Formats: sequence, C-alpha cells, structure tokens
Amino acid sequence: MKIEYHLVPEEKRKPRYTDESELGFGKIFTDHMFTMKFHRDRGWYEPKIGPYQSFELDPACICLHYAQMIFEGLKAYCGRNGEIYLFRPWDNAKRMNKSAERMCMPRLDEELFLQAVKELILVDREWIPKGRGTSFYIRPTMIATEKALGVHVSTEYLFFIILSAVGAYYAEGFNPTKIYVIEEYTRTAPGGIGDIKAAGNYAASLYASSLAAKKGYTQVLWLDAVHRRFVEEVGTSNIFFIVGDELITPSLSGTILPGITRDSVITLAKYWNMKVVERPIAIDEVVAYYKNGSLKEVFASGTAAVISPVGVLCYKNEEMIINGGKTGALTQKFYDELVGIQYGETPDPFGWRVRIDN
Ligand SMILES: *Cc1c(COP(=O)(O)O)cnc(C)c1O
Repeated sequence: MKIEYHLVPEEKRKPRYTDESELGFGKIFTDHMFTMKFHRDRGWYEPKIGPYQSFELDPACICLHYAQMIFEGLKAYCGRNGEIYLFRPWDNAKRMNKSAERMCMPRLDEELFLQAVKELILVDREWIPKGRGTSFYIRPTMIATEKALGVHVSTEYLFFIILSAVGAYYAEGFNPTKIYVIEEYTRTAPGGIGDIKAAGNYAASLYASSLAAKKGYTQVLWLDAVHRRFVEEVGTSNIFFIVGDELITPSLSGTILPGITRDSVITLAKYWNMKVVERPIAIDEVVAYYKNGSLKEVFASGTAAVISPVGVLCYKNEEMIINGGKTGALTQKFYDELVGIQYGETPDPFGWRVRIDN
C-alpha cells in the first residue's frame, strides 16, 4: 500500500530537545505520526504520515468505555556513524496481530506495519537521539472507534504509530531494583489476556505497583492467579533466575507476555552453551535456592530497559539480597551483548538487526 504524506512545513516544526540527558522516557514526541483507518465494509484505508496532533474521538467510542485497545513497543537505535537500526521488528508485527485476534480486532498487513514504522522514522530522523542507550521508542497502537455504547465488537478502528525520543535508561550505570512479591493481587488468570499487549492489563496492574512503591519497592513480582505460588513476571518485564549454572525462566503458560527480549536472552544463552530451562518456578523454590546459596543472579528483560538487574526480592516481609545487591556478571553480559547488537557495534549472528537508513 502506498503511504500518503502530509508533512508539517519546515517553519512550523517543533523546536527539538537540546540536551539528550534530559529526555526521560515517553515525554518528547516527534513532528509526525502514522495513521490508518479501518471500517468493516472497507478494510484498512488512508495510510498516512501526517502531523503529530490530537485526535477527535466521539465520547461514545468503544475504546473509551470497554478498552478494545492494543499496542506494541519497540525501539530504533542510532549507530556511531548515524545508521539507524530496528531490532526484530517483524516479531512486534506478529505479536500485534496476535493481540488483534484475541481482542476481535482486524489484522494488519505485517509488511505494511514495517513499512509504516520505517517511513515514519525516516521522516523524523532528525529527532533520533545519538548517544549510547538513547533511542526512539516506537508505539504502534490500535483503538476501537465505533460510536456506540453496548458491549460489542467495534466495526471501526484507528491504527497509529508515534515516536518518542527517549533517554538512556542507565545514564548512571545499572541500578539494581528492589522488587516486592505481591500475593494479594494478580496480573492475569489462565484464559485471560495476559499473553497479549492489551491496554486494560496495564490499568489493572497500577494498584499493585503503587502499593509496592509506597512500601519503597521499584516494582512488583507477580505470582500466578491460581496457586499464588508460581513466578510470572516483574511489572511489565519477563524474569530470569540464575541458579547454580542454570538460567531459569517461567515457561509461556498463557498468562505471561512472550517478550522479544526474553526470547533473545534465551537464544543467546543457548548460543553460549548455558543450560537454559523454561519451566514453572515456584516462589518457595526461589527462597530455597536463596537460602542454600545457589541463587546467583536475578534480572528482568524488556524493550524499555533491555536488562534490569534485581538487587532485592521481598517475599512475606523477608528481603533476599541478590548477589550482594549488585549487578551480576551474567546479567551484565546479556545487557552488553544485546545492546551491542542493537547499536550495530557487534556481529549479529541471528539476523535480528535491520538497518533502515540506506
Ligand atoms: C512488553 C512486555 C514485556 C516485554 O516484552 P518485550 O518484547 O521484551 O519488550 C513483558 N511483559 C509485559 C507484561 C509486557 O507488556
């Protein structure tokens, strides 16, 4: 499909940020966005790159009431010589379609998804920050726009992509996080929508995260909803444990989001001949490994921070200090390798990187 361009005239473009160290996360947006509409009788139409601006939405539109709404999150990285890379973007396109299917929303053409991401980045390429650790955070989103109360599948949708210039997550080096194991609330249940990026999941997680924050913790660790025993995720990231010489992560049971970073960590670990196990892991097992000294490192994985070391795990009012509260060597190694690939600095043995500026 051909994407129409309605670009903002040069003299009307926004002033760009001046200091990359003040970008933060998800606050600064570029001059343009991609939009495309859908109607049940017409399919997708009007793919367009136009000015970044507010939408007009009818107050009765379905997404505002019933959260028929999904999104993705990926990044574009600027290499040392100004090259621009994406990391496994086709996996985001596929996952977006998996989310769409579960939420009774229309599929997107995956080629068009990639084309839209690429073209939008190139239109706003002057906005991409250059420093190591900085990037464009790309947010493709689909919302149900039919004007109708009454719970039903919308007949109309809007798909859009926006770009945010984001700062280095670890400007002052790795900061191991303090994680609170939450027992009274759960993120999702079997048969639910925990394995897709549906907007409502994040609204449902806020109460537990704010409880953890009040207690002085960075994030929650979710347990499974049925037994309140098996480890699922940390906040909105996947979790890994290094026990002895094994890398253990919860298996994709249907209640865990299949992270692309998670899959990349598993692939790298196997490539390095580590023992990797995907299996249900109980929190009391984690405590036992901690007590017998075999729990070496814990880290979380996700696009925003890539790898995030866990320094403290609090379960039933007892704090486990992991690796002396410091970042472990393997955690660091996964981070360095992934970031090296993302910024085009190291070989890319799995073909994960896509250069888009040439
Ligand atoms: C997005 C997300 C992740 C991480 O997925 P990546 O593809 O690695 O960014 C993990 N858990 C949840 C709940 C998420 O929404």
